[in-house]
Amino acid sequence: MTQTTVTAIEEVGTRTVALELETPEGFDADPGQFVLVRATVDGVEETGYYTLSSPDAEETMEITVEYVPEGTLAPWLAEREPGDTVEIEGPFGDVQYTGDGDAIVVAEGPGIGPAVGIAERATRADHDATVVFWGEEPPHRDRLDALESAGATVLLVSSLDEAADTLAAAGDATVYVFGFESFVRDAKTVADAVGVDDLQAESFGPR
Ligand SMILES: Cc1cc2nc3c(=O)[nH]c(=O)nc-3n(C[C@H](O)[C@H](O)[C@H](O)COP(=O)(O)OP(=O)(O)OC[C@H]3O[C@@H](n4cnc5c(N)ncnc54)[C@H](O)[C@@H]3O)c2cc1C
Repeated sequence: MTQTTVTAIEEVGTRTVALELETPEGFDADPGQFVLVRATVDGVEETGYYTLSSPDAEETMEITVEYVPEGTLAPWLAEREPGDTVEIEGPFGDVQYTGDGDAIVVAEGPGIGPAVGIAERATRADHDATVVFWGEEPPHRDRLDALESAGATVLLVSSLDEAADTLAAAGDATVYVFGFESFVRDAKTVADAVGVDDLQAESFGPR
């Protein structure tokens, strides 16, 4: 485990915060990968996985945390302040975007974190990026607006069927999916039905 310092924390949506952390010495990660966070909350050791939401992990890196009041680690993370320390381990995960090729990212809830991180990395490398978010009010609205201004496509859908045409036109783009278990399953079903062959998905587990 490595101790890292919180450098900034910002509310980026409903019950959702972006936590910027100092990148530990020797730590290298790409958006899509995740870290293990360990903390003692009310005397009990808690762990959870959180996915990178920054385009890289150079001097700092970011995770985006959605919390519910009845949760344990996520609400604790949402209460951190700059200067606090957090224990992390990783990075983990084979799903990662290293800046090669066009990317379409399908996300729900806190999955918007890796979606913006990947889309920012892609546009920075002059690749096409599309973010499909299931819901009307995505967190990270400012970054999504900036992505649109930089030429990326942002599509808000109320049903994954509305993403079918975008996925059918994926061509050489890699399709990434981030969200909780049932969302990932449904997104894979839609992607399979329209013939997507390069799909990488990370499930955040059951809700
Ligand atoms: C590979 C991986 C990557 C992940 N990446 C992220 C990430 O980038 N951002 C992120 O926020 N989470 C992510 N998660 C989920 C995260 O690890 C925790 O499960 C989540 O933050 C809840 O933790 P908790 O301790 O607060 O809640 P818990 O104490 O585990 O849950 C308490 C109760 O609240 C419910 N609950 C908790 N959170 C939610 C929610 N958001 N919506 C609805 N019900 C909920 C639980 O189902 C449970 O019934 C990821 C999980 C995995 C496996």
